[in-house]
Amino acid sequence: MTHCLSVLVQTPAHSQMAGALSYRSALPLPAGTLVRVPLGKREILGVVWDAPDVAGQDIAPDKLRSMVGPLDGLEPLTPAWRELITFTASYYQRAVGEVALAALPPQLRELSTVQLARRLKRHAKAAVAPNVAGTSASDQAVLTPEQMLALQRFEAEPGPFLLFGATGSGKTEVYLRCVQRLLASEPQAQAMVMVPEINLTPQLEARFMARFNPLFGEQAVVSLHSGMSAAQRLKSWLAAHSGAARIVLGTRMAVFASLPRLRLIIVDEEHDPSYKSGEGARYSARDLAVYRGRLEGAKVLLGSATPSLESWHHSRPVQEGGRYLRLEMPSRIGAAATLPLVRRVDMNHQPKRCVIAPPLLAAIAQRVACGEQSLIFLNRRGYAPVLHCSDCDWKSECPHCSAYRVFHKIDRTLRCHHCGYTERVPRTCPACGNPDITAMGRGTERLEEHLAELLADVRRPNSVSEQWPQGEPVRIARIDADSTRLKGELTVQLARVHSGEVDVLVGTQMIAKGHDFRRITLVAAINADSALFSSDFRAPERLFSLLMQATGRAGRDADVSGHSEMWLQTFHPQHPLFEALKRHDYPAFAAGQLAERLQAALPPFSFQALVRAEARTQVIAQGFLSAASAGATGMADGAALLQHISLYPAVPMSMQRVANVERAQMLIESPSRAALQRFLTAWQVVLHATRLQAEGKGLLRWAIDVDPLLI
Ligand code: ADP
Ligand code: ZN
Ligand code: ZN
Repeated sequence: MTHCLSVLVQTPAHSQMAGALSYRSALPLPAGTLVRVPLGKREILGVVWDAPDVAGQDIAPDKLRSMVGPLDGLEPLTPAWRELITFTASYYQRAVGEVALAALPPQLRELSTVQLARRLKRHAKAAVAPNVAGTSASDQAVLTPEQMLALQRFEAEPGPFLLFGATGSGKTEVYLRCVQRLLASEPQAQAMVMVPEINLTPQLEARFMARFNPLFGEQAVVSLHSGMSAAQRLKSWLAAHSGAARIVLGTRMAVFASLPRLRLIIVDEEHDPSYKSGEGARYSARDLAVYRGRLEGAKVLLGSATPSLESWHHSRPVQEGGRYLRLEMPSRIGAAATLPLVRRVDMNHQPKRCVIAPPLLAAIAQRVACGEQSLIFLNRRGYAPVLHCSDCDWKSECPHCSAYRVFHKIDRTLRCHHCGYTERVPRTCPACGNPDITAMGRGTERLEEHLAELLADVRRPNSVSEQWPQGEPVRIARIDADSTRLKGELTVQLARVHSGEVDVLVGTQMIAKGHDFRRITLVAAINADSALFSSDFRAPERLFSLLMQATGRAGRDADVSGHSEMWLQTFHPQHPLFEALKRHDYPAFAAGQLAERLQAALPPFSFQALVRAEARTQVIAQGFLSAASAGATGMADGAALLQHISLYPAVPMSMQRVANVERAQMLIESPSRAALQRFLTAWQVVLHATRLQAEGKGLLRWAIDVDPLLI
């Protein structure tokens, strides 16, 4: 007997071929089975999506093409996994096939059945668990009362939980214990631990492996992130899918890992914007984690020192409508207990054009002289953001983008940070020939150079060698996207900081996040005002969390914690954001922000989506959006669907042109998430149709971003 299978395959973004395809099969393969199917002349990977014979009943099986065969040796994907995919596709307005196939490791698509069989065999050999005795609890730290209480409540309540814990309060230890207790009570269970940037947190991986590999073997902890090779990713994925891996540690993509016995999901630094995907389905892995937890009956624990305002709002008291349970750990561990003193330098009272205020410079010099480390951060890489000719006013604009090319002195290039367009720095002004073109503003490269000049006479104490009888000169290092372009470079540079080979570290926000620097006693933000007056309503939230994170880098080691400081250079020292920061008072900051958001009916008090369009010209891009907006009223049920929806006019994006492509966007807002969802689902059809009619449609692209983070 032949069966009819409905199979999901990867569909191109604008094909509208969103549903599953039907194939003939001699076997009644269950839903979730991975199969190879023919499409056109190719043979591709697909996932059986419905129970056999459910879909496509109206087509006689003999009219269908035969599927090639299932991928042997792999259990079908679980109903919960399929439901997660279906939900993601529908919520983020993408094709199910696209979401499902993107959620699988790329090598599953590429390997032949024979190759895959070989991998599985190797995998099965490796998966034989060792017979190790459990580590005794005595070699672990005794939990603090705050950690204990958090754990108790975690065990007693269903969640989801928001662990609101200061930097250094021992959140990671709580994550480890949650996993440990889970596995002690249910050895076959699986846990997922998500981090925003796995390359920045090798320490976390090491901590999990140290704790769990001795108990559960080599495969107990596997990673999933985009920095891994395709072969490594497949290996991790197989270990998770087969149940051999107990813990999957990963970045946002890990939220889709196949974990048949998932019982616990932890999202560390849950506020971090990198949980939101910027391409394909623009999903939020944090939000999907909460959804997945409910779907699979897995507990969800979100953790942060500066939660997203959404999660903070959700964790208000139950009586006020809260849905998450807030667990608080306000104290830093042990002797590192004092949080750094936050000092604001009023730049209105400093010498004109000074980059580093004299008192800050003196403080840095003093730390160097004591053999302590300082971390100076500035959120702009390169030497200077613009080159400028004072004769004719030429500036180093990118010919392809609405942005300036950044001057990089190290290799004497002008580089566009948006499209990558790079040229040698001209010797003279390209417009008027003036040989005297100057660098305007300042990036990390220039800051590093400047600090070297300012600290040239400062000596660090320890080695009294013959070469340096007065002490060694100060050692300055820089860590940013430029200095760490090569693979492995970041790890090397971080190791140098850890081992004390660096006195002053200059860098971008890359170094403000998460790193467990031990001997840093001074952190300084050179331009703390950068995001205070942005048009993006989320800018203050990001700034506050970044500065709090940076503050958390200081004084983590017991013997240096007492006198650690965070310096802020600002022209607005009285700004409430800095007042709250000075008191390390996230709740006060959050309360202020939420009050403003409530007043302005912004998220989390309303729901938003953006449609972005890209085209050759702004006219085409905005014209498309306006036409689609007008088309919304013409939809069947249009009036009802639009009832709680505000459609804003099409506007250019703040980065209007990138690589010669013009970009525009339109905001859609609603007080009701459900209303917004209903509208978007219906409106998709209009968007597709409008594009087909649009002028220059070949180059016209559009995408919906639900719950956008950058407006
Ligand atoms: P967070 O993740 O909140 O920043 P960590 O979990 O990294 O904090 O903990 C900070 C430091 O305190 C780490 O070095 C960790 O090993 C240590 N630590 C955590 N819990 C305890 C404890 N109960 N007793 C002693 N040290 C602890
Ligand atoms: Zn000129
Ligand atoms: Zn460019």
